Amino acid sequence: MHAVVCIKQVPDTTEVRIDPVTGTLDRRGVPNIVNPEDLHALEAALEFRDRFGGRVTVLTMGPNFAASALRECLALGADEGILLTDRRFAAADTFATTYALWTAIQKIERERGPVDVVLTGRYALDGDTGQVGPGLARRLKVPLLSYVTAVESVDFQARRIVVRRHVEGATVTLESRLPAVLTCSADLNRVRYAPLPALLAAQEAEVTTWTVDDVGADPEQCGLKGSPTIVSKSFVPEPRAGSCRFFEGEPETAAAALVDFLIEQEKIPGFELAGAKEA
Ligand SMILES: Cc1cc2nc3c(=O)[nH]c(=O)nc-3n(C[C@H](O)[C@H](O)[C@H](O)COP(=O)(O)OP(=O)(O)OC[C@H]3O[C@@H](n4cnc5c(N)ncnc54)[C@H](O)[C@@H]3O)c2cc1C
Repeated sequence: MHAVVCIKQVPDTTEVRIDPVTGTLDRRGVPNIVNPEDLHALEAALEFRDRFGGRVTVLTMGPNFAASALRECLALGADEGILLTDRRFAAADTFATTYALWTAIQKIERERGPVDVVLTGRYALDGDTGQVGPGLARRLKVPLLSYVTAVESVDFQARRIVVRRHVEGATVTLESRLPAVLTCSADLNRVRYAPLPALLAAQEAEVTTWTVDDVGADPEQCGLKGSPTIVSKSFVPEPRAGSCRFFEGEPETAAAALVDFLIEQEKIPGFELAGAKEA
């Protein structure tokens, strides 16, 4: 079994700031973490390896300091961390990100053997598009199993997997051939803790670093050059003016005062509620 887990280092905040001039994320002063759902993708891969043996490779595209995210994954038990880093990868949209990751997965297959499953998070905390997993499946020409909340069964010999996924209020059970791309939800599993010795050892662990040339990528399809997305404008919406009013007293008195107020303000038609108020 060989699983490749794509992880992204993201700012530890849900309040993403956008640089109004460049239209890119402003990460200044915000600590970085591994995208939370990517840890669930890693946990799923580690559970496969616990059961079937094999290898878990963790892959990220990012700046040099993204190596720390890979080291966190090594502490959790990943066998190898690969960092795609090169100025020419910078400012990639999801299309160019997917291209870069795809070239790296092809190199992994050439040099480390066939990949049985690629796992990603459902979406990244900052970019939040949820497009990278589906884009990878398309480029790799393998089935996509998105929003996975449970792996019901997997057989790497027979190359079959059965998963549950949430879609618009329903749960769907899907059987697929392998290899496939799975985008993983936080409901999928509980992420294990890294033992202290592993955490300490990972601080010094080697991370494999690949550039555009190493993966044989076309520079025209990488980074900003390879990104068809244009941010034409970015802005913080004006806060809406609003006010808050409290109706105090016993529940009946407060409710009656609220109803009177709403009728007065013409927010609700008075005649419909007159009977209810008396009752
Ligand atoms: C206006 C705007 C500005 C942006 N500026 C920046 C910026 O300055 N810096 C920046 O880093 N990003 C920036 N991005 C986001 C950038 O486009 C995305 O990081 C990238 O293309 C991935 O898209 P996403 O974050 O939506 O990932 P999603 O598609 O939501 O991610 C799904 C999963 O794909 C995997 N994945 C995603 N990205 C990577 C990666 N790089 N390496 C490995 N696995 C990955 C992870 O498993 C992740 O959970 C910006 C996006 C927008 C909309």
